[in-house]
Amino acid sequence: MNGSTHTQLRDRFGRLHTDLRVSVTDRCNIRCSYCMPLDVTFKPREELLTFEEIARVVAVAAGLGVRSVRLTGGEPLVRRDIDDLVRRLVAIDGIDEVALTTNGILLGQQAAGLAAAGLMRLNVSLDSLSEEVFQEIARSKGLEQVLAGLAEAKRVGFAEIRLNAVSIRGLSEGEIVPLAAFARREGFHLRFIEFMPLDADHRWSEPQVLSGLEVRGLLEGAFGPLLPIDVADPGQPAVDYRYSDVAEGAAGSLVGFIDPVTQPFCDRCDRLRLTADGQFRNCLFSIEEWDVRRLLREGGDNAAIAELMAACVAAKRAAHGIGTPSFERPQRSMYEIGG
Ligand code: SAM
Ligand code: SF4
Repeated sequence: MNGSTHTQLRDRFGRLHTDLRVSVTDRCNIRCSYCMPLDVTFKPREELLTFEEIARVVAVAAGLGVRSVRLTGGEPLVRRDIDDLVRRLVAIDGIDEVALTTNGILLGQQAAGLAAAGLMRLNVSLDSLSEEVFQEIARSKGLEQVLAGLAEAKRVGFAEIRLNAVSIRGLSEGEIVPLAAFARREGFHLRFIEFMPLDADHRWSEPQVLSGLEVRGLLEGAFGPLLPIDVADPGQPAVDYRYSDVAEGAAGSLVGFIDPVTQPFCDRCDRLRLTADGQFRNCLFSIEEWDVRRLLREGGDNAAIAELMAACVAAKRAAHGIGTPSFERPQRSMYEIGG
């Protein structure tokens, strides 16, 4: 590929990187306490990669074996004409899957356009079905819009919509069973994510982590045993289970746990990240970044972009190290990295 000697993004621990998370903005229309500060200054727009620049990086990544792209942010649906970017990415040779993670607030208006553009997968973040708790977490209104957005996404034909819920001790315990009941009823695949030390307010502490195991216990108390299932994609961070009282294969029959704190999955991580302002990261907890924006804007060729991506992969650490004495929290928070 354009003179590059790299054909694959394999790191020194043998992990092959096939999944690129692309943040399209650091902006957001709500202010989740586990992610953003209330009072936030966003990057000037000219510092964000253009759609042309993002598509060029993704094309180079595809040449290096990246097969799946997930758009995220900040809130990706606040970036104007995001469906245009989806259309461009879907057309890139080698990209098999284009997905998007959203808070769902603008989904009612945009679901049809995203489906028409060829978006294949949709993850919607929803931590609570109670207006009061939603507002406590998001520090903003919006639950009704998210629910309307989910209904619209279903109506326009998105298959396998996933719900992501962050669980925090002292905040989420009462939300878990109602969320699961909702997901089962509506046919959504729900996944619980442990709270990670990436909140902009730096309030994270280990005791606040409501573990996947504890959440599982609450669910089993309400719905009976959860049965392990065969893993389709060994690179996926989530461990999925099936409800024993729902027919196998039925929509809403699965529930999963992403436990980066108590059950790190670094040994099977296949992800790379591109921030909205054009920095490659090899981990959510990366403390180093590789500046592809400068390359793009200073006339770097595709081989140079591929070299940079390979350098980023080569430097990947074995594990994030949360809970170990050597753990160093990254400077940037979740909304600036792209979750
Ligand atoms: N705004 C979109 C959304 O909320 O879905 C996309 C970006 S958001 C940063 C991506 C995911 O990261 C969301 O599911 C969110 O709940 C999760 N997240 C944010 N901060 C987190 C934290 N400190 N620990 C665990 N998950 C977090
Ligand atoms: Fe916005 Fe998503 Fe962060 Fe919540 S988690 S503040 S919705 S970027």
